[in-house]
Amino acid sequence: MSEQKKPEKVEKITAVKGMPDILPADAHLWEIFENTAQSILQSYGYQNIRTPIVEETRLFARAIGAVTDIVEKEMYSFEDSMNGDLLTLRPEGTAGVVRAVIEHNLVYEGPKRLWYKGQMFRHERPQRGRYRQFHQFGAEAVGFTGPDIDAELIMLCRRLWDDLGLENIRLELNSIGDAAERARHRVDLIAYLEKHEESLDAEAKRRLHTNPLRILDTKNPALQDIVNNAPKLLDYLGEESLAHFNGVKNLLDRNAVQFTVNPRLVRGIDYYNRTVFEWVTDELGAQGTVCAGGRYDPLVETFGGKPTPAVGFAMGIERLIELMKSAGDTAAPAQCDVYLVHQGEEAQLQAFILGERIRDAGLDVILHCATSAGTGSFKSQMKKADGSGASFAIIIGDDEVANNTASVKALRGEEGEQQQAVVPFEEVVDYLVHEITCDHDHDHTHHHH
Ligand code: ATP
Ligand code: MG
Repeated sequence: MSEQKKPEKVEKITAVKGMPDILPADAHLWEIFENTAQSILQSYGYQNIRTPIVEETRLFARAIGAVTDIVEKEMYSFEDSMNGDLLTLRPEGTAGVVRAVIEHNLVYEGPKRLWYKGQMFRHERPQRGRYRQFHQFGAEAVGFTGPDIDAELIMLCRRLWDDLGLENIRLELNSIGDAAERARHRVDLIAYLEKHEESLDAEAKRRLHTNPLRILDTKNPALQDIVNNAPKLLDYLGEESLAHFNGVKNLLDRNAVQFTVNPRLVRGIDYYNRTVFEWVTDELGAQGTVCAGGRYDPLVETFGGKPTPAVGFAMGIERLIELMKSAGDTAAPAQCDVYLVHQGEEAQLQAFILGERIRDAGLDVILHCATSAGTGSFKSQMKKADGSGASFAIIIGDDEVANNTASVKALRGEEGEQQQAVVPFEEVVDYLVHEITCDHDHDHTHHHH
């Protein structure tokens, strides 16, 4: 290798457009989000399910519906070059979860509450809050019929916003009825839109006879008057759909969950019926929906399963992380409790032994290691210790080796009163544990779970 001539300039390979890296500086926010969401889902009895990122293309085509943004133009689909299978990187989580529920007969013994998280892929124009790889946290409740489970799903979202300290997220609610109710509405909606056909934009014209309901959630300002005056699906609901909708609204009212009914809320995916909802914020510009969900009773049957009602939601994690950032405290936590500084071969061995013992006691330790610049002076190592956010530096040099001790320096006290103690080697772990658990004043921001 060393004989080979290096090329003049090596071209750097960057990440795929719209598929951003999540760097260590943000990792703690992701962990806070995921840990909080997981523990809330668990507190409502939801179980985790992990399905593959790749599924057969026809699964999504069938689930999501052919006349949707996702299936029309956003899916990463490819042919498996080994066997010609037509596959797709999942654009959303529900289809895979429902496939797995049916394939493994998960509702055989009764209804199931499930949650998932992970990457989703959609070929969209990348912009703030909209990526080609993004992450969703979602829940699906399969086998429950009533408005109670719809309300539960909505309420656990609110609990999550509360626990994360996110204040400006509001709930929009609607019912889109069942297929027969939508069919009656559709006739009147098409007739109404045809009267205004010359004012519609190209996309609305294209959708007029395929998916006219979607025209109602257009963001084109020029169409707002037309869609605001269009026939409202809510006026077409029959007795059962209305009773279900009123049941959801009543439970939310009784639990002090505020919402507005938005008759134009129809959701982008075909399989929904009855309850649909979105949690929306004004703090993220155009991409303000942080969570979207609803009932999708027909889907299990569409997949060849026994008729089984279902309801769920999906949150866009990137958008929620951005809200967490704007809500305040983004200071990175300390990387460790203890930073181990050493000089000399024997001292390094002692530092290794001590590091393992301190970790055995449940504390986080960074052991100073060599770089191309060597191990560095005590002074430069102490700078690293400070920068790590550790509460203590442990210093082992010639004196400490000779006396079988270690020096322990408190790093987080007021300037001038930072204590340094020489502790017998065998007592260092006890000393640290005592200092860290008994000193309630010192700034110990690193949390152990
Ligand atoms: P939009 O109308 O913004 O395209 P959607 O109806 O396509 O949204 P869903 O399929 O309901 O969105 O996905 C649920 C949530 O996932 C969204 O509310 C959003 O928070 C998030 N999400 C969807 N697409 C993206 C994306 N490309 N990048 C980041 N987050 C996304
Ligand atoms: Mg979309």
